[in-house]
Amino acid sequence: MRRKRIYEGKAKVLFEGPEPGTIVQYFKDDATAFNNQKQGVITGKGVLNNRISEYLMLRLAEIGIPTHFVRRLNMREQLVREVEIIPLELVVRNVAAGSFCKRFGMEEGATLPRSIVEYYFKNDELGDPLVSEEHITAFGWSNPRELDEIFQLGLRINDFLCGLFLGVGLRLIDFKLEFGRLWENEEMQLVLADEISPDSCRLWDVETNEKLDKDRFRRDLGGVEEAYQEVARRLGVLPEAGPIDIKGPKVLQ
Ligand code: UDP
Repeated sequence: MRRKRIYEGKAKVLFEGPEPGTIVQYFKDDATAFNNQKQGVITGKGVLNNRISEYLMLRLAEIGIPTHFVRRLNMREQLVREVEIIPLELVVRNVAAGSFCKRFGMEEGATLPRSIVEYYFKNDELGDPLVSEEHITAFGWSNPRELDEIFQLGLRINDFLCGLFLGVGLRLIDFKLEFGRLWENEEMQLVLADEISPDSCRLWDVETNEKLDKDRFRRDLGGVEEAYQEVARRLGVLPEAGPIDIKGPKVLQ
């Protein structure tokens, strides 16, 4: 079957879905870091992120968080609702790590006084700059009401995911979310979009503080594939065929 490729990102390809208003998200093994300066392949990542994101989106839907997720189609693809992506990355942080440590001169691992929500403008050319509510509303990327809803959803998602991950021995250090707008009978609904996976979350083992996320790739720590597998295993979504069954269907143009 030939289908129209809508967009190719760093870790995913989007195709036109089988029905209007749907999109197929294909998860690649490609990995990038530091705004594309570092590139590589994490074998099996696409298969695992497809499962992990499916699992987390379904659990979030159960507690009433609207998401774009419809259903998983196969090893590397999931069907999602077509939304208008809001050009913001919402980062929620519980523990200081990554760019936050640099910005505030903090030691990695320091617990924050409370969960902190940050907004970044989604723009690769500019390297996703940190922006404030002022920039967002002045430039019209969102409005105060919508932004408040995004903020509240971010905190709810954080609370829920912290508990969920803690239940499988993982600390949710920080993570990135993206939201989209969905129109239905003249009404606009805000929905969680993109993916939630070890590409977009920092996850540390509760006992050892071992990093089980993309930082293993970013910082050349080794055991990258194993870390993604471990997260999938703990969540109970490691494909039975295991890491051998990772090739999946070929990306069709
Ligand atoms: N993150 C992401 N995509 C981005 C930037 C950040 O998924 O383009 C995630 C990242 O995995 C981490 C959190 O958002 O869980 C905070 O990242 P940070 O701002 O510390 O940037 P980094 O150190 O990853 O460059």
